[in-house]
Amino acid sequence: MPAERLRFAPSPTGYFHVGSARTILYNWLLARKSGGSLLLRIDDTDTERNREEWVDGIVSSIQWLGLDWDLGPVRQSSRLERYAEVAAELESTGHAYWCGCTREEVEARKPAGSPPGYDGFCRDRRLGPAEGRALRFRVPENPVTVSDLVRGEVVFPTGSIEDFIVVKSSGAPLYVLANAVDDADFEITLVVRAEEHLPTTPKAVLIHQALGHGIPRFAHLPVLVNEARQKLSKRRDRVAIEDFRDQGYLPEAMINYLALLGWSPGGDREFFTIAELEEEFSFERVSHSPAFFDERKLAHFNKHYIQQLSEEELLAMAVPFIERAGLTLDPHAIRPLLAEVKPRISTLEELPGMVDFLLSDPSYEGLDLAKFDQGTVSMLGAVAAAIADTEPFTPEKLESRIRALCEEIGVSLRKLQEPVRLAITAKRVGVPLFSAIAAVGRPAALRRLSAFSAAIG
Ligand code: GLU
Repeated sequence: MPAERLRFAPSPTGYFHVGSARTILYNWLLARKSGGSLLLRIDDTDTERNREEWVDGIVSSIQWLGLDWDLGPVRQSSRLERYAEVAAELESTGHAYWCGCTREEVEARKPAGSPPGYDGFCRDRRLGPAEGRALRFRVPENPVTVSDLVRGEVVFPTGSIEDFIVVKSSGAPLYVLANAVDDADFEITLVVRAEEHLPTTPKAVLIHQALGHGIPRFAHLPVLVNEARQKLSKRRDRVAIEDFRDQGYLPEAMINYLALLGWSPGGDREFFTIAELEEEFSFERVSHSPAFFDERKLAHFNKHYIQQLSEEELLAMAVPFIERAGLTLDPHAIRPLLAEVKPRISTLEELPGMVDFLLSDPSYEGLDLAKFDQGTVSMLGAVAAAIADTEPFTPEKLESRIRALCEEIGVSLRKLQEPVRLAITAKRVGVPLFSAIAAVGRPAALRRLSAFSAAIG
């Protein structure tokens, strides 16, 4: 494929949305695959909604995902003069005209039942710029065709696009103008972005044509939806990359899962490294039907990538999560349990809850102890006696000793495990019991068995 010049153009108006992450990923894959380049452009002309901290959030999220860019960040707010220059050119060549109509005036003029949009009242009035006047693009009387790599040729018929505003009466350029000017000035060859921008694409095409620019090709990516098939929304759904990062999702899992939201590699294979994605990705396999962003599927990918970590890597990544959970736990204390913990967690955030029993003797408050009786107490006594002299105090040795005890006293291991696990960890599930007993050590194990017996009463 020819070297493509791409751009990723987020607006700094909130947390970094998973949809944005997919957009930059596809752009990045194509830039790398084609030996081209990727521009990071910050679409920050909407001063009311933009915040500087969101720009930082964009940059740090991209870096966390392990992606990068070749050019920029270029801020649209630094290019206002350029947009004004192009607006003046559009006006002087007759492609745009000044318009002083208010929305109310337009509505009042239109007979009932007429199509929505501007009625062209000022088209030929030859007004000059003045307070309260906006600059409108003069849309020609012909259909506009957008060539889209995902959807094919999309035709917008004559009359479906109104004479749209390119410069507001406040003097601010509209996004559709700024975007077309930037795509032309930075010689973008392929615009890959969310489907929601498709309706404004013919306007960009018209601006490019008016200015005599080459027209980039477009690829509009399918919308991301939730379980109820509603478009993902930051008010309703969990969509911030920052949230997933803080919860202990790995960037490799995120990248792999996002790649499959709209693109299908063909076949059953689901796990791809980023290098493999670069190799495999193509628009032929990007669908235009909505893609379900399924957190359970994402967790499944994350679990897979956690499995790929060495124990050293897992330990290093777990430290901030252990600290955030408020555990003053020497990370090395959890080392012996890591091999058992690793296959049992889907996110790093789940790790502290699997090892916190190492820290101090647990409280049994809130547990339902009513089902245990004096029989349980004497069984726990027998377990304590058995492990008091088990040597070495390893999971294997403890297992064989306790299995033998079950035989001796005629209780199933299943029956015995439940109260012992609660005594040692105060939890019903977790790492294998014998590993847990070995990890807390003999004195603590004996202390906990006796405290639990006392709690049963
Ligand atoms: N700034 C737009 C957004 O964040 C992107 C538009 C585009 O890629 O052209 O949705």
